[in-house]
Amino acid sequence: MAQGTLFIVSAPSGAGKSSLIQALLKTQPLYDTQVSISHTTRNVRPGENHGEHYFFVSKNEFEAMIAEDAFLEHAEVFGNYYGTSRKAIEQILSTGVDVFLDIDWQGAKQIREKMPQSRSIFVLPPSKDELDRRLRGRGQDSEEVIARRMAQAVAEMSHYAEYDYLIVNDDFDLALSDLKTIIRAERLRMGRQKARHDALISKLMAD
Ligand code: 5GP
Repeated sequence: MAQGTLFIVSAPSGAGKSSLIQALLKTQPLYDTQVSISHTTRNVRPGENHGEHYFFVSKNEFEAMIAEDAFLEHAEVFGNYYGTSRKAIEQILSTGVDVFLDIDWQGAKQIREKMPQSRSIFVLPPSKDELDRRLRGRGQDSEEVIARRMAQAVAEMSHYAEYDYLIVNDDFDLALSDLKTIIRAERLRMGRQKARHDALISKLMAD
């Protein structure tokens, strides 16, 4: 069986990355596509569950995992640690399932170095005004908080060119279709197709 593909998706907050990944998962069976659940030291937000959105761990637990080399990548993002468990990813990929990582540019860089066969996708918002509007959310935050979010978004976006694919999330359906097209094309690559159609190819080539 061919290995699944590891897809990295990064974006500034406000680009709609999580919605795109969630919408994508609804169109794909679990035996085709799964999303990796990261470990983090940040606090749980309302509506989040341990083991569903993240594995929420203490700083000590996270540092112990680093010492055990349990992470394929890990990084500090906005003052908290985030990391991708090596074991979980390798196990899923070995069963031929594609895995999505929703991680920042620092994690993407580490994965690219360790797994050059992975594919990375960057999602940009359609305009600065729209990004500003999305970062303001429900309008309950101070200008200072919003300015900090914008600076963080610009810092993340400055890495877009390091990625294999670029999606501009203006029309959501179109962006989702772009994402599906990338996955489809990767699944049609020769290595994957050869393994998948091994029996057919042997018959076609037989005298
Ligand atoms: P949030 O705390 O809002 O869920 O995520 C903040 C940022 O951390 C997002 O850009 C997200 O992609 C990134 N992130 C989430 N999990 C991981 C991870 O395992 N590794 C890295 N490097 N970044 C992560």
